[in-house]
Amino acid sequence: MHAFDFYRGRRLRRTAVIRDLVRETVVTTNDLIMPYFVVETADAAFEKPIGAMPGQYQLGLDALSARVGRAMAKGLRAVLLFGLPAAKDERASGAYAEEGVVQRAVSRLKRDYPDLCVVTDVCLCEYTSHGHCGMLSPSGEVLNDPTLDLLARTALSHAKAGADIVAPSDMMDGRVGAIRAALDENGFSHIPIMSYAVKYASSFYGPFREAAESAPAFGDRKAYQMDPANAREAMREAAADLGEGADMLMVKPALPYLDILHALRQSCDAPLAAYHVSGEYSMLKAAAQNGWIDEKRAVMESMTAIKRAGADLIITYFAEDILDYIRA
Ligand SMILES: [Zn+2]
Repeated sequence: MHAFDFYRGRRLRRTAVIRDLVRETVVTTNDLIMPYFVVETADAAFEKPIGAMPGQYQLGLDALSARVGRAMAKGLRAVLLFGLPAAKDERASGAYAEEGVVQRAVSRLKRDYPDLCVVTDVCLCEYTSHGHCGMLSPSGEVLNDPTLDLLARTALSHAKAGADIVAPSDMMDGRVGAIRAALDENGFSHIPIMSYAVKYASSFYGPFREAAESAPAFGDRKAYQMDPANAREAMREAAADLGEGADMLMVKPALPYLDILHALRQSCDAPLAAYHVSGEYSMLKAAAQNGWIDEKRAVMESMTAIKRAGADLIITYFAEDILDYIRA
């Protein structure tokens, strides 16, 4: 056989420099958004480890600011905030309260770090006594249209507090349009909407429920979040949200849905975010703590895969760690 008769792919893998020169996908500090859980409490230094998510914490305002400051010193540029209110009710009043936990956290972070990009999760489930993402009918069904107004009020209150981007995660139909209208009518036409457009009813959200204390008191979220078996439906959800004015789309979870991310990348030009969710985080942490995988390598391989599939930005609880990895 002649030497040129077969492809010699190894030529471009021979040294670290050559591999670096031909690398197609690189994760950078510009790609990362770090989620934080902020607690409404008089103890601003409050810091409670989340058992199912080693390395993650529920934080009071001072603790949050300190943690974000340390991460920014390492290169963090964007955060996503979830709130744990002191009290919950049927109408999720805490979600849109002027002095609500997220609203106060947003203004605090924007005061301490004007350059930080603050993204807020817009949903009701952390604020409703029943733990669902919308208003309930007497029979316990999650009502779509009556929920839209409350979501719009929530997003507007976040914008008023200083949020740079609002990110609705509830999966009610029509919420992007309702939020867009509320923002535009109140002088916030410059605030982008990052829509959780393609959010699956996933088992990988388990640890988040402990972190955000948002487990539904009954039933599940399958009547509003997507069936993991469906891919074409993701295209319809994405098209609907873009049509209503979404500026960025999100796929959630990330690794089990890379095919969806890739298909969306092919079919639409909007920036795509992927949410590497709590269960994905906790699985890697648990395996690493047992010595079964190399945490740094597994995390970076996961992030690279998410970006390779088509994500422009990645929301991940590993963001602080990745900043260390990138600088090392
Ligand atoms: Zn929710």
